[in-house]
Order: sequence, then structure tokens, then C-alpha cells
Amino acid sequence: MSLFVDIKKKLKGFSLDVSFETNGEYLGILGSSGSGKSMTLKCIAGIETPDEGRIVLNGKVLFDSYRKINLKPQDRHIGYLFQNYALFPNMTVEENIGIGLLTSKIEKERRVSEIIKKFHLQGLEKKYPNQLSGGQQQRVAMARCIIYKPDILMLDEPFSALDSHLKEKLQSEVLEFLKLYDGEVLMVTHSRDEVYKFCNNIVIIDKGNSILLGNTKEVFRDPKLMEAAMLTGCKNISRCKVISSNKVYAIDWDITLEIEKEIPKEINYIGIRAHSFEIVNTNFKTEKNILDCQIDKIVENVFEYSILLKNKNKENKNTILYKIKKEEWDNRKDKEELYLKIPESSILFLK
Ligand code: ADP
Ligand code: MG
Repeated sequence: MSLFVDIKKKLKGFSLDVSFETNGEYLGILGSSGSGKSMTLKCIAGIETPDEGRIVLNGKVLFDSYRKINLKPQDRHIGYLFQNYALFPNMTVEENIGIGLLTSKIEKERRVSEIIKKFHLQGLEKKYPNQLSGGQQQRVAMARCIIYKPDILMLDEPFSALDSHLKEKLQSEVLEFLKLYDGEVLMVTHSRDEVYKFCNNIVIIDKGNSILLGNTKEVFRDPKLMEAAMLTGCKNISRCKVISSNKVYAIDWDITLEIEKEIPKEINYIGIRAHSFEIVNTNFKTEKNILDCQIDKIVENVFEYSILLKNKNKENKNTILYKIKKEEWDNRKDKEELYLKIPESSILFLK
């Protein structure tokens, strides 16, 4: 199982330049809205044609501008779950699932009923899409994709149409259903939680360009690029100046950090995730890498507080976001002063 993509396409006001490769492990494409995720999938599916490049699936060339190869969508063996599922409203569940299966009527009935069982859709065979819940529609759409036994299943923001309270349950269901399918899976999302849950590897795309490819956990641990850090949810990023191999000045927070290990030379930013700070006792306030905090605002969430703060006694510094479990914050005795340690191991060094 392998997919190789290296394509360029110019549109009015937007250009796509994407390359990545995957070998049998679930791959996620993470990018903000409008970054070219759906366009990339459409090029792979053959609905859109790149200006140049190559797309190879399991050794089969789907597109090659140099060799003038451009297979029709129906010859690519790709399952494509559209962002809005695209079920036919005037067809029942079983008709939607079976449409386009070019087999005998008996074989079609057998395969449709088999997949209806697998996707827990029994009893809904004669229903129309508007009589189904969002989760059921999604299962019908997935069943319709998988029934062809495609070489790759591409999911375009599969959960964006669903209510947030259903999402988590459905995500684990979908993970189970995906196990019924043994081809390549490519998922597109703007949600870092989804990509983290589903995908072993990720490609990050920013303004039409693929900027980073790597193991998901590794990319979240060390995103390397400012844009990648933002997309993986890092809320605090400051421009920086490297002073020496062990000292870096964070311009936007007006603090100089001392680092034990060698600081990469070519960085322009440092990042720290909102959960990564550690509260320290006043006795330790003069130790290195401690922020003396001026609290601007405390926002109460369900299980944690979001604390917006600034580096105290410094002018015009950017706001820093700190997130802490409610219990931990409520149990603090001294609420007047807050000193936060920036642990070296949590600092992201970014280009
Ligand atoms: P995403 O799926 O990441 O949100 P898209 O791939 O849908 O983004 O779109 C990427 C960019 O390409 C957007 O700026 C969009 O306006 C533009 N775009 C999409 N389709 C077309 C098209 N057919 N013609 C011109 N521009 C398009
Ligand atoms: Mg899209």
C-alpha cells in the first residue's frame, strides 16, 4: 500500500504545490480552511487535473503530466467521502449504497446487505437520507465508499458536519468501521484532535504548500515550523533572537530563556503550549526561565481555567495563555502572585 503525490496547480489567486508519500499507515492532511486540502483530494481522485506532476497509487500511475497519463476518476479505484457526504436525497439507504456497483442484481443485493450489517444500518434500508441522523448519514456514505473495495479511502473533514456532542462517540465508531477496510486511508481535517486520534502520519499544508511531513506524535512534539506549531494548537508563539548557543530572547514576552542543550541557530520563533507552564512557589521566583505574571483575565471553562497574562512590569508585551485544571487553581493559597516556570523540555524551537 503506497501513495505518492507531487503536484502543482495554479488557480486564480491560489496556487497548490503539494508533495508527500505514504506507506500503508493512516495519513492526515492538516491545514486551515482554504489551504487547499479539498483541492488536493480532488486532484488525487481525478475530479480536478493538476498542471504538472505525478500521482502514483500502489505502483499504478494515476497521473503523470510528463508522460501524459491522466486516468479517469472511475479507473482510479478511490473511495472519496465528500465533506457533506453527498448522498442522493431521492434514493433510499440501500439504493445509495448500491449505486454504481456494476454486478448482477443478486450479487449487488448480497453485497449491499452484507455491508449494511457491517455498518449497523439494519432496519434503515428503505429510509431516505433526510430521515437519518448525521451519524447514520455518515455511515451510509462510508458504506457506499467501501463497497467498491477501493485501493484508498479519502475522507474530507468527515466530522465537520456533526454536532460537537456526537463527535467523540462517532469518531470512535468510525475508527472501528475503518478496521473493516484494509486499504490506504487519507484523511483531511483542520482539527488537530482528529488528526491526532486517527493518523499515524501527517502532512501539514499552509496556503497551498505542503510544508512538513512526519510521524504525527513527533510533529506535535517538535513541529519545527511556526505554521506547523500553530496548526497543532500551540497558542503561545513569540518572535525570538538567539543570543548564544544557550540563551534566547523571546521578543514578544520580553524574557531571556536559558537553555541547557544547544539552541538551533536558524530559529525565528519559540513556542510554548498553554498547558506546559508549571506554577512555582514564590521562593523560586528568581530561578531561571520564570515569568512573573500579571493576570489580565481568567476565563472559566468546564474543566479548566484559561488565564490570560502578561510578563509583569514590561511594557506592551503580548498576552500569554495559560491553561490549568480548575482543581489545581482553586487549591492555590496565594492568589496575589503568580510565577510560571517555562520548562525547557516544553519549549518549541521554530523556524
Ligand atoms: P480547503 O479544503 O483546505 O478548505 P480548498 O481546497 O477547498 O481548501 O480551496 C483552496 C483554495 O482554492 C481556496 O482559496 C479556494 O477559493 C480555491 N479554489 C477552490 N476551488 C477552486 C476553483 N474551482 N477555481 C478557483 N479557485 C478554487
Ligand atoms: Mg475543504
